[in-house]
Amino acid sequence: MRALRLIGDRQLELAEVPPPSAPGTGEVQVAIKTVALNHLDLWGFRGMAFAKRQLPLVVGAEAAGEIAATGPGVASFRPGDKVVMYGAKTCGVCPACRGGRDNLCENVGGIMGFHIDGFARDLVNMPARLVVPVPEGVPLREAACAPIAFGTVEHMLFDNAKLKPGETVLVHAGGSGIGSVAIKMAKALGCTVITTVGDDTKAEKAKALGADHVINYKTERFEGVTRKLTGKKGVDVVFEHVGGEGFNASLLCLRRGGRLVTCGSTAGPTVTINLMQLFQQQYKILASFGCTLRNIRDSLSKMAAGITPIIDTEVMLADFEKGLARLESRQVFGKVIVAF
Ligand SMILES: [Zn+2]
Repeated sequence: MRALRLIGDRQLELAEVPPPSAPGTGEVQVAIKTVALNHLDLWGFRGMAFAKRQLPLVVGAEAAGEIAATGPGVASFRPGDKVVMYGAKTCGVCPACRGGRDNLCENVGGIMGFHIDGFARDLVNMPARLVVPVPEGVPLREAACAPIAFGTVEHMLFDNAKLKPGETVLVHAGGSGIGSVAIKMAKALGCTVITTVGDDTKAEKAKALGADHVINYKTERFEGVTRKLTGKKGVDVVFEHVGGEGFNASLLCLRRGGRLVTCGSTAGPTVTINLMQLFQQQYKILASFGCTLRNIRDSLSKMAAGITPIIDTEVMLADFEKGLARLESRQVFGKVIVAF
């Protein structure tokens, strides 16, 4: 079978490898049909000195497929069932796992496609407990965006920021994979959405997604425009995943007691924060990483109800690297997906 492996920094190889053995007790074998790309794949592709991993490494962190076979003791799946996978090897027995807080697992064995072998291969064996059925009517190319893009946004907006109907939210990088999902989810809840983009073409697209106000951060200072748009009051929630110099400007966009939720730092991981401002304004900074199995189920239900991902580009497995280049170019609006 085919497996797309990272063999060095920025070096991918489509290899022929032996298929996995028959699924063991409690396992299923999944035939991968679609992989969706995320910024995480780009970090991995470029090479990260601090990430503990061994090469070659099968890439692909987010995917959908069909059950090919089931192991002993698996009654919940049948061959042909459409599924997505939770991409971190959680233990399933620690208090966090048993409490449904999968992304706080105390014994996590790594993120698939980043620390350990991922989904860009024809067949993969998975513990059945980490496999989630795809509802009727949701195409696999869309379902593939549930485990990371949709799940991350669910976890950020609802578990962490506890976004409520009628609130105002500033979504950074509305054209990114998670930004475009955040706009749609916040609008579906009945929120007012302000979003930032880096060019005017993306501004039109973000408006088409339902954003109430779009700010081109390259031509205007987003914190000034946001304060003006909210009558100097500030927004209830900032959806942050950029970091760098914009982080403090994002805090300035919040109303007193407002919440900033963050899951990324594509523009730089280090910032200096004014603590006087932080406590006087009673800001709440919420850190979010990954999601829970429940977030993936909820994401798929939302897709079935019509909140679907924006797909920017679809490439074939052999062109995985072209997909990454599209992501890296920042020309992308929505998700890049890889078909098998
Ligand atoms: Zn655990």
